[in-house]
Amino acid sequence: MSDNHYDIVIVGGGPAGSSAAIYAARADLRTLVLDKDPHAGALGMAHVIANYPGAPTDSSGMGLLQSMRRQAESFGAGFAREKVIGLGLQGKERKVFTASGKTFSARALILATGSMGKNSAIEGEERFVGTGVSYCATCDAAFYKGRLVAVAGRTGEAVAEAVVLSRFAGRVYLLCPSSSFAAPEEELERLSLQPNIDVVHNCRITAINGEKSVESLTLSDREEPLPVDGVFLYLTGSSPVIDYTGGQLDLTGTGCLKTGPDFMASVPGVFAAGDVLCKEIKQAIIVASEGCRAALYADKYLAGRARPRSDYH
Ligand SMILES: Cc1cc2nc3c(=O)[nH]c(=O)nc-3n(C[C@H](O)[C@H](O)[C@H](O)COP(=O)(O)OP(=O)(O)OC[C@H]3O[C@@H](n4cnc5c(N)ncnc54)[C@H](O)[C@@H]3O)c2cc1C
Repeated sequence: MSDNHYDIVIVGGGPAGSSAAIYAARADLRTLVLDKDPHAGALGMAHVIANYPGAPTDSSGMGLLQSMRRQAESFGAGFAREKVIGLGLQGKERKVFTASGKTFSARALILATGSMGKNSAIEGEERFVGTGVSYCATCDAAFYKGRLVAVAGRTGEAVAEAVVLSRFAGRVYLLCPSSSFAAPEEELERLSLQPNIDVVHNCRITAINGEKSVESLTLSDREEPLPVDGVFLYLTGSSPVIDYTGGQLDLTGTGCLKTGPDFMASVPGVFAAGDVLCKEIKQAIIVASEGCRAALYADKYLAGRARPRSDYH
C-alpha cells in the first residue's frame, strides 16, 4: 500500500468529517482527513458552543473541534492540512487532488466540506463575526437576553430566526431588503404575533459599526445609525461547498448533493455528510451523527456486508 493510499479519505475536518474519522478509524479502516483550514469551517469560526451535549458550556468551536480531532487521532486517523481542488471518480480507486499538487487515493470517500455564505458584502461584517454578527439565531439567541438585535433578510429562514430571537431579545428589528417577504404564510402569522419585533421593509444595512463588538447599523433608509447589540444575517443564504467535485455527482434541483438514506452519493463509494447536504437545521450535534452514519455505511460498503456494524471495541 503506497503512502498516499487509504481505505477512506474524508474531505473536510469539521464535526461531520471528524466524527466520520472517529468511526472509520475505530472500524480499523486506514483513514485520512484532508482539511484546508479548520478556522474556515462553520464550527471553527463559532465563538462559543454552549449546546453540544457533554461539552462545557463555554467551549469554543475550535476547542470542541480540536478535541474531536484528538479523539479521531487516538484511534489512528490521520489529518493533513490540504485544500482539495478535484476528485477523480473513474475506476475503482477514488482519487483526490489537492492544491499543493498531491494526489491521494482511497477505496471510499466521505465529503464533509460544509456550507458557507458567499463572501462578505457588508462593511464591518467580517470584522464582527462572533462579536455581534451571527448567521444562526438558533445557536446564539441566548446570548442576547433583553438586548437589541436586528435580523436582515426576506426568506422564511430570516422570519423564523427573528421569531426565535424575540423569545430572548428585548427588541428585534427585522430588516427586509424588499417590499415583501418570501416566506411561508405560517411563518408570517407567527411573526405578526410577536409584540417585540419591528418589521422594516425596503431597508438595507450598508455598514456594521462598533469598537470591540457591534454597536449600531448604518441603514439605507435613515440618516441616524440604529443602535443594536447584534445582527443576524440571512441575506446571501449558504451554499454547499462542492466546487471541487467538478459536476461529477448528481445534484438536487436546488443544487445540493443527492444522497441516499445510506449517505451514498450518485457514484458508488462516495459518501457525504454534514452541512454540505443542505440542512434545514445546522447544528454540530446533527452533523456529528451524520458523520458517524456515513462512516459506518462506508465501512459496510467496503466490507461488502449486508448491514452496517456499530459494535467496534
Ligand atoms: C458563527 C456560527 C456559530 C454557530 N454556533 C453553533 C452552536 O452554538 N451550536 C451548534 O450546534 N452549531 C452551531 N453552528 C453550526 C455548526 O457550526 C455547523 O452546523 C457545523 O459546523 C457543520 O459541520 P460540517 O462538518 O458539516 O462543516 P464545517 O464545520 O463547516 O466544516 C467543514 C470543513 O471543511 C473544510 N473544507 C471546506 N472546503 C474544503 C476543501 N476544498 N478542501 C479541504 N477542506 C475543505 C473547511 O475548512 C472546514 O474545516 C454555528 C455556525 C456558525 C457559522
